[in-house]
Order: sequence, then C-alpha cells, then structure tokens
Amino acid sequence: MKKNLIMDKNYLSYWLRQIRKTMSLIAPMRLKNADIVFKQVDNIHEIELDCPASLPSPKEFLLPQKEYMFRFSKNSVDVLKDCTKRLIFGVRSCDISAIDLMDRFFGEKFVDEYYMSRRENTVFISIVCNNPDPTCFCIGLGTGPFLKSNFDIQLTDLGDRYLVETGSKQGADLIRGYSHLFSRPKKSDYDDQYEVILSSQSKFEKRISLENTRQKILNEKINDLFWDWIARRCFECGGCVYACPVCTCFNVVDRMEQEGDGYRFRIWDACMFKGFTRMAGNVWPAEKKGSRIKQRYFHKLLYYPDHFGRFGCVGCGRCTITCPGHVDMATIAHRIDVGDRRRR
Ligand code: SF4
Ligand code: SF4
Repeated sequence: MKKNLIMDKNYLSYWLRQIRKTMSLIAPMRLKNADIVFKQVDNIHEIELDCPASLPSPKEFLLPQKEYMFRFSKNSVDVLKDCTKRLIFGVRSCDISAIDLMDRFFGEKFVDEYYMSRRENTVFISIVCNNPDPTCFCIGLGTGPFLKSNFDIQLTDLGDRYLVETGSKQGADLIRGYSHLFSRPKKSDYDDQYEVILSSQSKFEKRISLENTRQKILNEKINDLFWDWIARRCFECGGCVYACPVCTCFNVVDRMEQEGDGYRFRIWDACMFKGFTRMAGNVWPAEKKGSRIKQRYFHKLLYYPDHFGRFGCVGCGRCTITCPGHVDMATIAHRIDVGDRRRR
C-alpha cells in the first residue's frame, strides 16, 4: 500500500483538475477578510497551502455544524445521509490525527451511520507543515508536523516538487491512471524531505508535554480552586469547543413543519454551556462553570488516553486563537506544569 513518488509542482493543478471531474474538491482558501476556510474549489490557483490554521477545521465536512438526519411524516421516514464523494486537499497533519480519533469515536463502539457515510466517501491529501503557527504544539504530541502513518496521501513541499507518500487504498486510487505525472524518488529527495522536517521542527515556539500535565492531574490532585480560577476567565462562548478538531458533542433537535411532518437535525453542542448536562427532572450534574471546565480537561487528558491510548487534543492551537479569556489547552497545561499556586 505504501508507495512514494515525486511530482513536479507544475503538474499539481492538472492532477487536481482531473480528480475534480469525479468528486468534489475542497481545500483551504483565504477569504477577503483574510480568514482561512476549507471550501469547495472553483479556481485551483486560489488554494492556499502555506497558511495559518483554518477556522473551523476540516472536521465540518464529516460532522457539519448542522446536519439534517431524516424527514418524517405520519407514514414515512426519509433518511438524509450525505454520500457526496469528496477530496479534501491541503489538510494539516494535526487535523488528520484528529480525524483518526473521530473515526474511532464514531466508528468503533457505536457506529454513527451519518458520520461513516461521509467518511467512507471522503479522501484526504495532507501536507507536511513547513511553517508551523506560533500557537501550534503538535510536535509534543506526535500528531504533526508530519505523519508516519494513517494518511491517504501526504505531500512534502520540496521547493519545485512534492514528495507524494501514499498510505491507503483510497490514496492509491487518486494516483492510479496518472503515472505520467509521477517519477520515482531519488535518495536526494528523501534527504531534502529530512531537511524540511528538521527545519519545521526547529520552528516550534511551544513545547508542551500533555503527559506531564496528565501526571500532575493524576498525582497532585489539582484543587477545584484552580478550575474555578479558570472559570472566572471563561466567557462560556463555546469557541474552544467549536474550533477543536477533536470535539464531537452534538445536540439533536426535532422541528415540525406542519401537523405530523417535520425533520430531525443535529447541531454542535459545547460542554462549556450551562445547559449541556441538564437532565430531565432539572438535575444538573455540572451546574458550576468550574466543574464543566474540569470535566472538559479531564475528558481530553484522562478519559481519551484511557480509552483511545491518545490525548483528546492534537495540538492544533485553535483554542489559543479562539479563546477571548486566554484559558486554552496550551495555557492550562502550562499553568498546571509550572505549578500554578491555585492548585492547592
Ligand atoms: S484542545 Fe485546543 S489545541 Fe487541542 S486539538 Fe482542541 S483546539 Fe486544538
Ligand atoms: S473559548 Fe475560552 S471563553 Fe470561550 S468557552 Fe472556551 S474557555 Fe470559555
């Protein structure tokens, strides 16, 4: 399955144009207000590759912010699954690592057919980050700036050409039929890739070990005063959750259109919201903001490693960009790590 090739950069546009004839092409693009978003590509030259992290992350194509599930009437139920074939191009390594976690969350114990239907029809081409953002810390988590496995196709920008690594059957299918665009890599190409990766690794400004943070939570019993202090800085906007490529929580809503007819949809939800854990009978297990924040971090730093063998964070840095209260994953991990006095 694993196959490495070289492609001259001049061929990229042609290759994508051909693929676009058989599936929808999604890639990062810069809006007029300078935001980077993943959207359907009309003009291939508008794709932005060496750019800051997109907001939102490409997870929205697998778990949309609002997704119609089915229409219902008195006599029938019409399931609305999305089976659109998509290529999502130019995805960061951390976001591919996040999708790998979502695949396990939605595909292992309880299979979510809506997610799986999108996932089975989506193929990703990721790219090694040559210039990580100042907010990135994937390097401490092994989720970037490049991947050793679990990708469909990974590109490394070697200046005038790409090293193209194929890691799955879906990736190999994108190459098939275009052998005239590719050549076999030479030793010098691998040497150049090694240089690119070393250079990228040296540019990281944040070096965070979430394992240290986890151990401190486990062993030092962080006091609730610490979480209450974080809570005073949290505006409960939900930005950290919505921006996070790993977060998967959603709410389900039924809407009636006329008597007996209606539809069900799901929308992203956020564990930071007060109503998130409210149950029938007005029982409120996490009514205090501090306890909700603690639950979020325990979920990502304790629950995920216990159940998936990995943290529920890929170090993308989006919560650092988004949080108006400056209480993001990197900041909280750092405060726990340096022994914030509010821990006791
Ligand atoms: S917790 Fe923050 S840094 Fe970690 S994956 Fe989510 S948004 Fe990215
Ligand atoms: S982004 Fe910051 S302020 Fe908004 S809910 Fe998350 S922690 Fe609170």
